[in-house]
Amino acid sequence: MKKAILATSLVLASLTQTGFAEESRTGELKLELYKYDKSKEVSGPEDYFTGNVTVGEVFTSGDNLNDYRHATVTFQPGARTAWHTHPHGQTLIITSGEGRVQVKDEEIQTVKKGDVVWFPANTRHWHGAGINTSMTHIAIQAPNEEGNVVNWMEHVTDKDYLGNDSSK
Ligand code: MN
Repeated sequence: MKKAILATSLVLASLTQTGFAEESRTGELKLELYKYDKSKEVSGPEDYFTGNVTVGEVFTSGDNLNDYRHATVTFQPGARTAWHTHPHGQTLIITSGEGRVQVKDEEIQTVKKGDVVWFPANTRHWHGAGINTSMTHIAIQAPNEEGNVVNWMEHVTDKDYLGNDSSK
């Protein structure tokens, strides 16, 4: 059995040429459990975010195939990303709270816990908290050939963020 798994892993390694660690593939493949580690949270960099944003540890898909990456991101009220695009698109899964998302020149959409958002490749957009509500989402995006998952642009102005609520 072990021999068969090793042979399979060698085939996979030659197909993907990612050179993942042999030792992780020579035993029975079960699961990898990443316990949430609050100490690995970082503040969203000011260059890419407005307001109070926390980014949890970033994970990649298993086996070092690197076919997707994910991060858990929490936005405090009023906080949001800068405008940006993703070379291969992005899925957001809202895991708590209520926030807002917008594609350039489209209406701002309200999103709540359990909602799922897909931004197609190279679609200019932002995502963030509500005006008075925090929002947490899991973001999943695939890297392009250069390993990039996002192209950052300018900050989202208060006017753009508030949209039709700008009288508030
Ligand atoms: Mn995005």
